[in-house]
Amino acid sequence: MAGVIIDGKKVASQVRARVAEQVRELVALGVTPGLAVVLVGDDPASQSYVNMKERDCREVGIRSFDTRLTARTSQSELEEVIDRFNADPDVHGILLQLPLPAGLDAESAIARISADKDVDGFHPMSIGRLVRGLPAPHACTPEGVMELLRAYDIDPAGKRAVVVGRSVLVGKPMALLLIEANATVTVCHSRTRDLTAVCREADILVAAIGRPEMIDERYVKPGAVVIDVGINRVERGMVGDVAFDRVAPIASAITPVPGGVGPMTRAILMVNTVDAAQAAARR
Ligand code: NDP
Repeated sequence: MAGVIIDGKKVASQVRARVAEQVRELVALGVTPGLAVVLVGDDPASQSYVNMKERDCREVGIRSFDTRLTARTSQSELEEVIDRFNADPDVHGILLQLPLPAGLDAESAIARISADKDVDGFHPMSIGRLVRGLPAPHACTPEGVMELLRAYDIDPAGKRAVVVGRSVLVGKPMALLLIEANATVTVCHSRTRDLTAVCREADILVAAIGRPEMIDERYVKPGAVVIDVGINRVERGMVGDVAFDRVAPIASAITPVPGGVGPMTRAILMVNTVDAAQAAARR
């Protein structure tokens, strides 16, 4: 019996509608939420992400302040742009599109962003607060996964969750958010021994690996919830880290690629921007 196919597009559009309502409330108080996206270089994938973010902002009523810098931009020029947005009261969120071109130091540029305006959840302060269990902006992709679980009434409390991938962008914050939600969490990576057996223990399996369709039915306990974060471009198009056709028949719920986690990442950016604007309005 095939399980539920989690519809990330639908949930993302519900999240955007909720954000649009919050934006209207803020505008009525005289505050228009503003998001500054900083793009350095001409990577086509990054350009298309930034265009999509601008479109999302327009849809929900967030003002976008975008800056596109050439690949020859120096670290100090980049940091000047960040400082300008840090000081601008109309800008509530700053997103530095990653990866940066070679020669630029992403760590120090991210740390330069005012922690109050961190909408990516990558600032050391945000990550530190998350580790301490304090309120903080959450990284968009893992928070998007949590939102999908909530939307489908999947409560991680008491469940075994296995996260494959330990990147600072996805795997680590994913594990922390699942811990916050009271799951018992195991994090796997390229050095994990007997990955198949560890994954088969999962009630909730999150794949954030970057290996096309690596997770097949051998890795999945029948009835598990399978969340596929992977985005891999192969000859026949875009595929996830999960072999969807082989896993869907045994999972109780599964995200497709595309149309699962991807749309949620962008929607949560809008959530984080409005949260930052609400916090600024309270200050
Ligand atoms: P990284 O390459 O930074 O991390 C990949 C992780 O997977 C690493 O921890 C790595 O282990 C682990 N890994 C790699 N190969 C194996 C293996 N054979 N067995 C077990 N673990 C393995 O990728 P990201 O975390 O940035 O992204 C992961 C995927 O998610 C990518 O496909 C990316 O495109 C996608 N993504 C999707 C987003 C969305 O919006 N849906 C947003 C961000 C990313 P180790 O640490 O040991 O090297």
